[in-house]
Amino acid sequence: MANMYYEKDCDLGKLDGKKIAIIGYGSQGHAHALNLKESGCDVCVGLRSGSKNWAAAEEAGLQVKTVAEAAKWGDVVMMLINDEVQAKVYKEDVAPNLESGNALMFAHGFNIHFKQIVPPADVDVLMIAPKGPGHTVRSLYVGGKGVPCLLAVEQNATGKAVDIGLAYAAGIGGARGGVMETTFQDETETDLFGEQAVLCGGVIELMKLGFETLVEAGYAPENAYFECIHEMKLIIDLINKGGIAMCNYSISDTAEYGEYVSGTRVLPYEQTKANMRAVLKDIQDGVFAGKWIAENQTGRTFLNAKRAQMARHPMEVVGAELRKNMLWGDDADPDTAST
Ligand code: NAD
Ligand code: MG
Ligand code: MG
Ligand code: MG
Ligand code: MG
Ligand code: MG
Repeated sequence: MANMYYEKDCDLGKLDGKKIAIIGYGSQGHAHALNLKESGCDVCVGLRSGSKNWAAAEEAGLQVKTVAEAAKWGDVVMMLINDEVQAKVYKEDVAPNLESGNALMFAHGFNIHFKQIVPPADVDVLMIAPKGPGHTVRSLYVGGKGVPCLLAVEQNATGKAVDIGLAYAAGIGGARGGVMETTFQDETETDLFGEQAVLCGGVIELMKLGFETLVEAGYAPENAYFECIHEMKLIIDLINKGGIAMCNYSISDTAEYGEYVSGTRVLPYEQTKANMRAVLKDIQDGVFAGKWIAENQTGRTFLNAKRAQMARHPMEVVGAELRKNMLWGDDADPDTAST
């Protein structure tokens, strides 16, 4: 079983007298900066000069500096910019301003694990990775709750990296939900696997193929959208609340019987497992990371082409129309989705 920590195990006082620089003010950045500030921490946000977020962060009552100034100012520097630009920003603006004994923090392990960032030996290197979108990190904190986090320590130069990590997790509210101890390697590999095989790659491909199969057989696209895409969330909500058991309780026995007889026809057990193992192996061997790094160095042509192709897919076109009449007010902000 993994080591779990909760609020009672965390001492926010370990951040007393420490200046915390949050680099980036996107999904995670705004949440960490505001939650830490309201927890009584000394926070500033590091942004590019001219960033549109500069005014937003100031309006929220935060002090803002350039990335280089914030890194210099901070004793704790949390990297909350896009993973694919972190190495460049680290090299140019953060590394020259890190001092011995500082803590360099991450919310995802990609750059450390795949050695895109190699920090000096005299700083702590640790991760607090919330297991949820940044906007949820913020909204749950405001409501007195918190998104669970992963804690990992890659370098413990001061011997206090765990204390800093737990205090930070408490400061953003994560310790209310629980902090699980792991490693950069495990966090990176499981996060990439989850989003590729199941959450994003798997689920979206499954919905798309289901939609196409119905439409190609002559059924209305609206019907296909409701069946194969819209209902997905309703099923997932049941599973999140009470496991597969609650889902199966709530669906009809006909649906449950169909689940058992057809699930493994659609996803043949041995073949799907073998494919998933191959995806995992590419992640573990760095093959995926190499491709993603190269994609970013060559103008993102594949990503951009795929994104445009998906936008034109009939499930997206018909879905956009149908959703106009299904705004219940509690739908997630589209820019909150992330894994
Ligand atoms: P984001 O895309 O929402 O925000 C990134 C921010 O960085 C933006 O404000 C952007 O303007 C800024 N930025 C981009 N390039 C910059 C540069 N060159 N210099 C300065 N600022 C720059 O990112 P995010 O989703 O919050 O992700 C941040 C980190 O958190 C990543 O490591 C990610 O893997 C991790 N994470 C994200 C989530 C999530 O739900 N979004 C969950 C867990 C972990
Ligand atoms: Mg510093
Ligand atoms: Mg049905
Ligand atoms: Mg049932
Ligand atoms: Mg994830
Ligand atoms: Mg991810």
